[in-house]
Amino acid sequence: MKKTTLLFALVAAFLIIGCTTKTKKATSEEKEEITQSPMIQKIAELKAAGYEIVDYHGHLKGGLTMEELLEHSKKTGIDYGVAFNAGVGFPITDDATLLENYNKYKDYPVFMAMQAEGREWVDMFSKENISTFDYVFTDAMTWTDSKGRRMRLWMPEEVFVDDKDDFMDQLVDKIVGVMENEPIDLYVNSTFLPEVLQPEYDTLWTNERMDRVINASVTNNIAIEINARYKIPSATFIKRAKAAGAKFSMGTNNVDKNLGTLDYAIEMIAVCGLKPDDFFKPVKK
Ligand SMILES: [Zn+2]
Repeated sequence: MKKTTLLFALVAAFLIIGCTTKTKKATSEEKEEITQSPMIQKIAELKAAGYEIVDYHGHLKGGLTMEELLEHSKKTGIDYGVAFNAGVGFPITDDATLLENYNKYKDYPVFMAMQAEGREWVDMFSKENISTFDYVFTDAMTWTDSKGRRMRLWMPEEVFVDDKDDFMDQLVDKIVGVMENEPIDLYVNSTFLPEVLQPEYDTLWTNERMDRVINASVTNNIAIEINARYKIPSATFIKRAKAAGAKFSMGTNNVDKNLGTLDYAIEMIAVCGLKPDDFFKPVKK
């Protein structure tokens, strides 16, 4: 009897030691992973505090597949809105191509977004088809100036700045015009300036100009994107917009497989004191 008891005790001891060692190992591995990715830890903390961490401006570009995007989503804890570009010069130019694309991706666990391009898009698609998307957005990076020159602000050779203040006033007019006339939910790449003006961002975005954009966004119920790739708008702009009651979205606008982890947008939550209710929330259709 004594021998059996001893054997039991030994087996039990082995089991306990084995389990404890295993547990310890798993915990230290987890810890290691978390220390390696402080942003992933930050994302988990924000979600636990009630924030929805969604990159509403993801693209399947540079060969990135939906499966790879979902893998990244699982790893980082970031949910995604995948945007499809529609408008003159893009693959989606009419209702047929819009629906074909929509049907191809609609069953994936992501928000479906339409990125409207140029100013002509409003007349290119039916209202019904546009509304099949969970949300629609555009930016003010493509427009024609008072001298009839069509500009794409991210292409230095297509940018014309004769007078900086005049350029800024035209840009603000365009942004406000987009918000007043186009049926969008988000204004993205917000406050983007062409490379030649970027060093003067804080001077050129005067209080008056910021307020015109902010007021149009609040009046028309259009959220303002905090863009992680361009690191815009500035904290000054975001704080001013929050005080006026504007809503925000977080977005990357990736051009390749690098989706990132929304670093700038997440940083702005603390810097500008943004609360979960300050963010745009679409309903998945
Ligand atoms: Zn985009």
